[in-house]
Amino acid sequence: MNIHEYQAKAVLKEFGLPVSRGVPIFKPEEAEAAAKELGGPVWVVKSQIHAGGRGKGTFKGAPEGAKGGVRVTKSIDEVKQYAGEMLGQTLVTIQTGPAGKQVNRLYIEEGAQIAAEFYLSMLVDRETGQVAFVVSTEGGMDIETVAHDTPEKIVTFSVDPATGIMPHHGRAVAKALGLTGPQAKEAGELTTKLYAAFTAKDMSMLEINPLVLTGDGHLKCLDAKISFDSNALYRHPDVVALRDETEEDAKEIEASKYDLAYIALDGTIGCMVNGAGLAMATLDIIKLYGEEPANFLDVGGGASEEKVTAAFKIITADPQVKGILVNIFGGIMKCDVIARGVIAAVKAVGLEVPLVVRLEGTNVEQGKDIIRNSGLNVIPADDLDDAAQKIVAAVKKG
Ligand code: GDP
Ligand code: MN
Repeated sequence: MNIHEYQAKAVLKEFGLPVSRGVPIFKPEEAEAAAKELGGPVWVVKSQIHAGGRGKGTFKGAPEGAKGGVRVTKSIDEVKQYAGEMLGQTLVTIQTGPAGKQVNRLYIEEGAQIAAEFYLSMLVDRETGQVAFVVSTEGGMDIETVAHDTPEKIVTFSVDPATGIMPHHGRAVAKALGLTGPQAKEAGELTTKLYAAFTAKDMSMLEINPLVLTGDGHLKCLDAKISFDSNALYRHPDVVALRDETEEDAKEIEASKYDLAYIALDGTIGCMVNGAGLAMATLDIIKLYGEEPANFLDVGGGASEEKVTAAFKIITADPQVKGILVNIFGGIMKCDVIARGVIAAVKAVGLEVPLVVRLEGTNVEQGKDIIRNSGLNVIPADDLDDAAQKIVAAVKKG
């Protein structure tokens, strides 16, 4: 689960990390009071969306030369003007894709003087099973670009959970950033606090880009992006309260209510599969035969008829879907349950696109009978290869 920058900074502040003072606003009318509360003399008006690259982003339909989603100004009038220009508009950045994201919240911050911009992130490194730090002097830039062009400028290390964070980790950060004396000490404190925040809140990713050295020589987190481990949210109601569902895919929210593993994709073939591995294989084979999947969906091992019905409804409600492939291997899952779920869903929401069903495993004959006798226009398939070819052909024809 992701949160907005201003929320992430509030979390960091709880752990004593240095962030700028700021006020979130939802309406342009709130801009003036927010700016006055902060006092100036420099303000930063920051679009709050769950995507980076805002500074270099552009607003849809904005006049030529209009500035990005993060703007620095010395005038309250401009704070007001920018708020009016950003709120409600669609910001397109390299991370949002061409559709962009609507800006519904702004963060008005006091402006910081920047002497140097660094990069620092933390993530759970699955290879070592430890929390890893990624640090670079190349701040404010896309880290993928840095990794590609100048990989020697990136320093990484991971923290053994048995010892936790140690002074040498802080020294490694300071060294990577070329900091000495009191600034190295500050880097050490920052490293310790970041690790505390990361582990206490069960984060899966924390990115500070840029981490800056201010004009008066102190470190400050100028941007903050946090993702939390969804599997640990049950023990963080305060984090769950920060969720902004308008930033998430409506279909994914619906799927999460039924405990379905669902991810929306860009293609045309809706997939209902059980088991993550089989689901991945299904996406691959659709691509192999020349079409693109509209989603990843794992209904799980022991799905109920109700869950299957919900899954089918989510797929059919997607206007991008031009055909549906149900691919089930009934191990724990029984084929007749799947068949009944599909039929219940079709009766409830109708079926306007071709549907290919491939069933195999427990109760397969009962499942096939249920579908055969349903009177529905279902294209049966014998194996995965056959199923993929049939749904691709049906979608191409339609
Ligand atoms: P992003 O583009 O979505 O990553 O948004 P950031 O929060 O990183 O802001 C983009 C850029 O705006 C930063 O890299 C800084 O160069 C600049 N910026 C952000 N806050 C301030 C500030 O307080 N003062 C100044 N001078 N520049 C800032
Ligand atoms: Mn940034």
